Amino acid sequence: MKASQFFISTLKEAPADAEVVSHKLMLRAGLIKKLSAGIYNYMPLGLRVIRKVEAIVREEMNRAGAVELCMPVVQPAELWQETGRFDAMGPELLRIKDRHGRDYVVQPTSEEVVTDIARQELHSYKQLPKNFYQIQTKFRDERRPRFGLMRGREFVMKDAYSFDRDPAGAQASYQAMAQAYRRIFDRFGLRYRAVAADSGAIGGDLSEEFQVIAATGEDAIVYCPQSDYAANMEKAEALAPQGPRPAATQPRQKVPTPGKSTCAEVAELLGVPLANTVKSLVLATDRTNEAGDIAGTQIWLLLLRGDHDMNEVKVGKVPGLDQGFRFATQAEIEAHFGCKPGYLGPIGLQKPVKVVADREVALMADWICGANEEDHHLRGVNWARDLPEPDAVADLRNVVAGDRSPDGKGELAIERGIEVGHVFYLGTKYSRAMNATFLDENGKPRHFEMGCYGIGITRLPAAAIEQNHDERGIIWPDAIAPFTAVICPIGMERSEAVRAAAEKLYADLCAAGIDVILDDRGERPGAMFADWELIGVPHRIVLSERGLKEAQVEYQHRCDTAATKVALADILAHLQ
Ligand code: ATP
Ligand code: MG
Ligand code: MG
Ligand code: MG
Repeated sequence: MKASQFFISTLKEAPADAEVVSHKLMLRAGLIKKLSAGIYNYMPLGLRVIRKVEAIVREEMNRAGAVELCMPVVQPAELWQETGRFDAMGPELLRIKDRHGRDYVVQPTSEEVVTDIARQELHSYKQLPKNFYQIQTKFRDERRPRFGLMRGREFVMKDAYSFDRDPAGAQASYQAMAQAYRRIFDRFGLRYRAVAADSGAIGGDLSEEFQVIAATGEDAIVYCPQSDYAANMEKAEALAPQGPRPAATQPRQKVPTPGKSTCAEVAELLGVPLANTVKSLVLATDRTNEAGDIAGTQIWLLLLRGDHDMNEVKVGKVPGLDQGFRFATQAEIEAHFGCKPGYLGPIGLQKPVKVVADREVALMADWICGANEEDHHLRGVNWARDLPEPDAVADLRNVVAGDRSPDGKGELAIERGIEVGHVFYLGTKYSRAMNATFLDENGKPRHFEMGCYGIGITRLPAAAIEQNHDERGIIWPDAIAPFTAVICPIGMERSEAVRAAAEKLYADLCAAGIDVILDDRGERPGAMFADWELIGVPHRIVLSERGLKEAQVEYQHRCDTAATKVALADILAHLQ
């Protein structure tokens, strides 16, 4: 590729709404361009990265025996009604109507459609096992799309679905995928961890997330350096003994709707002194009066620090109490309540608040809270007694660093991760709901045993950048770099020798199968180098008249602090 024919468009500054480094760098390097909230153009450079990610995934999926197909982005609601997800899924599922008023969804995942294919096409146990996969656009109307491709609304996922005749077969299919995922993530050249994840009631231990390690990751992962124990926080908490730290959540159970406290009561209970002691308690209410004071009849949430995640509820202002009070993040809310924020409803106070001393606040205990699901509430919801510092999310948990690992082999450590893949044993959940069966060797119909396996194709480049960057820009691993190498000729338009050498080297590298770009834009060296460092091409070769006189080029890896001289004749071997 020649840069003059390609499209390169870099920015000195990132737009102000980009919060994390991968988002900033992807915008600055011209990999993506925002169209709408959580919806991005994949620009030519970005698309090259995505295509490389896809190619690795496709190769390893095929190697593992999966078969590629492609299912429609727009899917009829009927199938989603069969499993109940059309109604159950909530606002993340984008529902649309056609000109005849028929309901459709834009696929956030494809269990329904693939199960429909299976029940029509897989008649006999002799056709099993089968694993269908696609690399296809997804849409999830995320509550808070953010961080660019990291949490988009429209994104690309590789999703695979296995069909087996019995649980043993399904477990073998699951293991084959778990292995394939290790090969895939090894090939990306990123530091990652496969961690046990919660599989709900059915899956036993058969759910793993693949987490790229990055300090900015949204997920907390728990591992033991002395053994191979690793789990996401949710799973680790489910396994943890209920120690001295207060348990934040209780299992959801049906209880009668509790009495609701009025805001006036709660404001009185809290009292102004709390403003000096509790740093980040939030009052949110369904209504405020014109002065901004709580005027609703219900307190909706009382939550710990974080971002303003609950944008459809208003912050209630108790005079003097508003400063420093913020909303919790979704992850924190989920960790505390064991349910999505959307399920939080009126809280019935069972005990009054007691203000003890500076920062030592006995917050309300044993709440009942719930639910915008009829008659569903949580009982015995409690806060941690001490409010954590902003970075110490782990302190909110029932599992903290230094705890004994469940296998008894050492102490737990906690780090942050970005979920880039997920493998999941589904059992017969979807095949039963959709009555998808095959005939077994005795001619009896049986429900398929299923598994599903996702990889965030467009999230992966963002995760790679979170993990690998410096102040100058992105540092791509070779496997997914938009170009593996760049040739930067200095003074190409003035020097015939430089031009000829650059063209020849370019042709030689192309012939050797190296994904190289020749920067023939005629930029000055400083601007040219800054562009490629921002874009993050791993290998740079600089040609200059002076160097060529000694038959030398300058080679610099993106991670090197200085260039080294390499004989022009040796550079190809140097790159290989
Ligand atoms: P998250 O916990 O981040 O919301 P998820 O558990 O909802 O992800 P899955 O349903 O397991 O996601 O989907 C499989 C993969 O798709 C995820 O592991 C992730 O890499 C990717 N993915 C999910 N949601 C998004 C999104 N909004 N933007 C980009 N990639 C996503
Ligand atoms: Mg999600
Ligand atoms: Mg997840
Ligand atoms: Mg997941």
